[in-house]
Amino acid sequence: MSADLSPGGPLVDVRDVNVVFRKKAMFKKTRTVEAVKNVSFGIAAGETLGLVGESGSGKSTTGRAVLRLVPVASGAISVAGHDLLRLEGRALRKARRRMQMVFQDPYSSLDPSATVAASVSEPLLVHDRLSAREARARALDLIELVGLRASYADRYPYEFSGGQRQRIAIARAIALNPDFIVCDEAVSALDVSTQNQVINLLERLREEFDLAYLFIAHDLAIVRHISHRVAVMYLGGIVESGPAERVYNHPAHPYTQALLSAIPDPSPHRRRGERIVLEGEVPDPARPPSGCPFRTRCRFAMDVCAERMPERTAVEGGGEVACHLQTSGPLLAGAPLGDLTAAATRR
Ligand code: SF4
Repeated sequence: MSADLSPGGPLVDVRDVNVVFRKKAMFKKTRTVEAVKNVSFGIAAGETLGLVGESGSGKSTTGRAVLRLVPVASGAISVAGHDLLRLEGRALRKARRRMQMVFQDPYSSLDPSATVAASVSEPLLVHDRLSAREARARALDLIELVGLRASYADRYPYEFSGGQRQRIAIARAIALNPDFIVCDEAVSALDVSTQNQVINLLERLREEFDLAYLFIAHDLAIVRHISHRVAVMYLGGIVESGPAERVYNHPAHPYTQALLSAIPDPSPHRRRGERIVLEGEVPDPARPPSGCPFRTRCRFAMDVCAERMPERTAVEGGGEVACHLQTSGPLLAGAPLGDLTAAATRR
């Protein structure tokens, strides 16, 4: 399913991407896991696409696939005009300069034995071949750009708070002037006030440098204020996508409704205090349910949901949803989805 393309034309263009892993099973057998299924989206320069879903939904694998950090089984990925799946060796390394990733744990991108200045200047020394003096001067500028003091440059990562470490990781990520950054749960481990500060920093950098972000998070509340558009993933596929305003105020997919209902600040679409509890776990991706992947946890599941995968359908207000309720369910009888939600909650 696609997260509808932005009107400005995509800087990042992802089409029908599939990622398949083979895992070892008992008795020397291997199991095939379709971690990402037919995922498509576009992100324009200066735009943020929020990608949300529970653990195991395939969102982080999608982010890694877009940067070609995991093997892509099929599909097409273009970033700033580079056909990434056709590039190899030096050409791929050159294209990758324009794409960076910020992880949940800054330690995964920061060497704990290197000073802040050394970490931030390393990509400049390797890729831009600056002299040590030039790279350090640029690193000090970057450290200040992300809101830290240049006098911190010779300290080590352990001397900083989680939020400060994430600022250092962001300084390193923007060192090579990328066009596109994948933020993979980049603020999820921080407290709410630090989350807001880091999100404000990312927003400022996006505006200043016309950056495009794929902002991955398990929590819809986190992506709410940073995303222009949102895509919701479940079991490897996008089940709903659209402009953030529409998805938050009028979610069309039962899974999106359940995720939104867990946010303490109630959305206008549901009654105060209503909480949709998602029963059970995300199914084993190696043994997905027949038909709709969400049917084993969906309160509206019908016979057709086990028989056929729902096709994606345009939603009023923008975007798409993959749910039989939109095409063959009680909606056709005139029951708005909000009423169905309330009825199911009272069951
Ligand atoms: Fe629920 Fe059926 Fe819609 Fe899937 S297709 S979300 S099971 S109603």
